[in-house]
Amino acid sequence: MTPLHTHNLTGIRDMLGRGEVRPSEVLESCLERLENTEPQIHACLTVCADDARAQAAALEAEGRSSPAKALWGVPLTVKDVLCTKGVRTTAASRILENFVPPYDAFAVERLKAAGAIIMAKTNLDEFAMGSSTEFSAFGGTNNPWDTARIPGGSSGGSAASVAARQCFGSLGTDTGGSIRQPAGLCGCVGIKPTYGRVSRYGAIAYGSSFDQIGPLARTVRDCALLLSVIAGYDPRDATSCDTPVRDYTAAAGRVGLSGITLGLPVEYWGEGLSAETEKACRAAVNIAADLGAKIKEISLPSLPYGIAAYYILASAEASTNLARYDGMRFGLRVPGADLAGTYVASRSKGFGEEAQRRILLGTYALSSGYYDAYYTKAAKVRRLIAEDFAKALEQCNALLAPVSPVTAWKPGSVTDPLSQYKMDILTIGLNLAGLPGLALPAGLGEDSGLPVGLQIFGRAFDEAGIIGIASALESALPGLGEPKGLL
Ligand code: GLN
Repeated sequence: MTPLHTHNLTGIRDMLGRGEVRPSEVLESCLERLENTEPQIHACLTVCADDARAQAAALEAEGRSSPAKALWGVPLTVKDVLCTKGVRTTAASRILENFVPPYDAFAVERLKAAGAIIMAKTNLDEFAMGSSTEFSAFGGTNNPWDTARIPGGSSGGSAASVAARQCFGSLGTDTGGSIRQPAGLCGCVGIKPTYGRVSRYGAIAYGSSFDQIGPLARTVRDCALLLSVIAGYDPRDATSCDTPVRDYTAAAGRVGLSGITLGLPVEYWGEGLSAETEKACRAAVNIAADLGAKIKEISLPSLPYGIAAYYILASAEASTNLARYDGMRFGLRVPGADLAGTYVASRSKGFGEEAQRRILLGTYALSSGYYDAYYTKAAKVRRLIAEDFAKALEQCNALLAPVSPVTAWKPGSVTDPLSQYKMDILTIGLNLAGLPGLALPAGLGEDSGLPVGLQIFGRAFDEAGIIGIASALESALPGLGEPKGLL
């Protein structure tokens, strides 16, 4: 018998549903896999083995309800930026090292109500600021395809835990690419929903006008199932939208792409892509054409200003969001000589270098002398980029682009902040526009042998559309197989 943790989410859910396996058996298989792989990948900051066992036992005692809960008995992990009641939630920061939230994030509530078992909290760049998970205060995560490389970020722990088969799916957050990019570099599927599709209640804020929670899993259908559970209106998040939730798993049954027009934005397919990335992604485009899609080159002329605009706006929002960590109400407190001294000591000790850099950048961009020159200007660029996307998506059902210019790199090899920020060039535009996007494994790079991801960008609230396109493509693309970096 194949070990239980090797099944995909839908497969194990169905086995649980048919009573062929019990939640505790599935959980033990995942916990054992986690124990065997964690020394190599360090995907998790907190493993909730006891809680998870108690949840599995409770599910077994209550029995499967009718109608069946969508995720009954399925072990999942959750990025450590989503609050979990009674379980430490750190945002991978010293300042929240001992923070135990008194409530669950909306998305976590939804998972639990659907019968899922939260088995661990996953690693990330501190406060989700980064693209490699190297900026975690508790040490980086390694890529299951090659443990000498980064898994991407900031949801690198979530992607690595899925790729290493520790769990069947995970939740991440995507402010500028943090679901799609690690999914791409670890060979998983990840969805960044439309801004407002999933409530941000209980998500530790980074850039509030960008942040979105979304799923990572091994297949498009698995992600669609998770999205169906977490999507929906929540009055506790003022930006949550009351737009009907479509049946995303039904969308995952799409076969063929006839009648679909897919745009290739020239700005995403030009300079800077590694040869193997371009080759794998172009091959996927050819497959889309073979499946009947019409392929059309288009342009998003304002996109080249995206990185500059994003890093001003996201840092500005971060600087205000992180102001609440002052050593007074919760989080780390390092006593100083007086009140101001306590603020300074707590924040200097509690925040890592990158978080401090963003606070400084953002505070500068918002300062009265520079607000118009930086913040207002960046907000205008954001509007232009959103208009570019809207125009392109009037002519096309969806757009295709690579996820990352290169495959997973080695820790420490991209050191200066600007080069790191430039790694996000292919993901950030979508967040500026607030639109949904999905990352799908296109294949393995012919030089590195590492996963290459393809993105599908869709119209606002058309998650079902991009899931359909992704699933048609997924069934025609060569699969990646098992991650090669694990013993
Ligand atoms: N790499 C980007 C940043 O550092 C995006 C991170 C994210 O999406 N959370 O801001």
